Amino acid sequence: MALHIQQNISLQPFNTFGIEAKARFFVEVTTIDELKSILLHADYQSMPKLMLGGGSNMLFTQDFDGLVIKMGIKGIEKMREDSENVWVKVGAGEIWHDFVLYCVGQGWYGVENLSLIYGTVGAAPMQNIGAYGVELKDVFDLLIAVDKVSGNQQFFTHADCKFGYRESIFKQELKDKYVITEVIFHLSKKPYFNTSYGAIQQTLAEMGITQVSIKAVSDAVIKIRASKLPNPEQVGNAGSFFKNPEILKIHFENLKEQYPQMPSYPAGEQKVKVPAGWLIEQCGWRGKRIGNVGSHKDQALVIVNYGNATGLEIKDLALKIQQSVIEKFDICLDMEVNIV
Ligand SMILES: Cc1cc2nc3c(=O)[nH]c(=O)nc-3n(C[C@H](O)[C@H](O)[C@H](O)COP(=O)(O)OP(=O)(O)OC[C@H]3O[C@@H](n4cnc5c(N)ncnc54)[C@H](O)[C@@H]3O)c2cc1C
Repeated sequence: MALHIQQNISLQPFNTFGIEAKARFFVEVTTIDELKSILLHADYQSMPKLMLGGGSNMLFTQDFDGLVIKMGIKGIEKMREDSENVWVKVGAGEIWHDFVLYCVGQGWYGVENLSLIYGTVGAAPMQNIGAYGVELKDVFDLLIAVDKVSGNQQFFTHADCKFGYRESIFKQELKDKYVITEVIFHLSKKPYFNTSYGAIQQTLAEMGITQVSIKAVSDAVIKIRASKLPNPEQVGNAGSFFKNPEILKIHFENLKEQYPQMPSYPAGEQKVKVPAGWLIEQCGWRGKRIGNVGSHKDQALVIVNYGNATGLEIKDLALKIQQSVIEKFDICLDMEVNIV
């Protein structure tokens, strides 16, 4: 089937910040063959190419003078199973939350704590998505990706992906080199629950749940997230703009003398993780608005577009926030969002 390549397309409907930016060329691929044919197409071969999933972790600060390839490869296929495990291959273009709901419906345990995370399955390994005590790496088996230049397919094992906190090899050494086309997950048919994190237990109790189930955990996570995070359909955002920083213990202990309320989580022997939202809030940013942009009133870590903001306005606010956290705490916040 001939690919439908469009020109000068607005990317506003394709990013959850709702930022206006144009793609010089734009195409959606629904099969691996289509993907390969566009990657190897003589007219586009030397052009910069940007993969786009749900656009929920991207900030466009300029037009993209190249080819934007929207991932539309679908499909959920059970590969194999035994009495306790199931391995499932999922197309990169599947919506992550739909996949979670599918697993919940099947009684496949492992991803229910990751309910209501935006975006696609193919982007999930990029930053090893995580929430409520679970990360993608906990259920990941293998992925298949296509080399953007040669068009060759390659497998990446768990070890190959070098997963870390909101990190993988695809954000580091192999940044922009591969297109993830399918991800294979290893899920459990044997019930197990991870309800110790955040307000899950409290929410289950409020929901009147006495017998915990996979559906109840997913519903509780959805309820918490819906109450805490702004809905991108109502106000443009990309979730957490910054990562939670990991700082040296000695640095933390010094800060703790000055800020006894400073929260922290263990992060290995030498390090401590500090919630970026708390740091930002302490710098007075929570709920603060500058023109079209601001830090969200309930979640300081989320930068929002109140309408008609440019990507540069959002980036500018992010840099201001970053600077004030450096000045107050001597901590440099890394951006989680991909800036284009
Ligand atoms: C309200 C809200 C809440 C969020 N909460 C969380 C959370 O709790 N935890 C969390 O981890 N994240 C969270 N996020 C961030 C986001 O949901 C994830 O990062 C998600 O995985 C992004 O998926 P996407 O398809 O939208 O990726 P995009 O934004 O389209 O792309 C992100 C990056 O991946 C690349 N990419 C996309 N698809 C592919 C592919 N198939 N192959 C290769 N590269 C690709 C892009 O080029 C880009 O660099 C949240 C976002 C929002 C809006």
